[in-house]
Amino acid sequence: MNAIILLGAPGSGKGTQAMRLAESLGLPHISTGVILRQAVADGTELGKVARDIMAAGSLVSDEIVLGIVEERIAAPDCGRGFILDGYPRNQAQARALGEVLSTLGATEWIANIDVPPEELTARVRGRRGTDGRQDDSEEAFRRRLEVYESESLPLLDYYGNRTVNISGLGSRDDVFGRLCAALPFAAAQLVTPKLVTPKLVTQ
Ligand code: AMP
Repeated sequence: MNAIILLGAPGSGKGTQAMRLAESLGLPHISTGVILRQAVADGTELGKVARDIMAAGSLVSDEIVLGIVEERIAAPDCGRGFILDGYPRNQAQARALGEVLSTLGATEWIANIDVPPEELTARVRGRRGTDGRQDDSEEAFRRRLEVYESESLPLLDYYGNRTVNISGLGSRDDVFGRLCAALPFAAAQLVTPKLVTPKLVTQ
């Protein structure tokens, strides 16, 4: 079982790349942000708890997100592996994930999509009002960036040389190419075997 963990700041393009990788590899894309936003839209108990926290750009509790991830990765479609996008967000989550993954005997592949802060700010200004995310008000984005820097950036030290660093600059295709090249598992899976057409034997 392969657990691919994508790290990166808000606005780094991590979600887009995660979706694309998931599609190419035929693995489920697990985004805690997407699951939480759906819960908010559905007005579930989870959604009610998460709504204001998300709108402020803060983190939902570790216990809640771990519960979401554990439940999701126990589903049958995750048997070959899965792509985690937005989890872990801090060291406590990374430790909890490590325990879950070692119980499952999963191999961790960790990639960080690196984008400089000035570029992130420019990107989020461009995104505002296009996909309508409520947590992308300028203020909430600044808060998300702060939370990323204080809570999530230290994950790079936590994972150390187990992380591959990818530049998130350039086109989506450029970034995807780098990502696949950096993940040996992904690169191997993405090589499509050539179809061999058997010749008809005529007598
Ligand atoms: P994302 O779509 O990954 O940017 O997540 C949107 C929001 O959902 C975040 O700003 C947090 O409020 C919440 N969230 C998503 N993933 C996590 C997580 N792993 N831990 C805590 N909060 C999270």
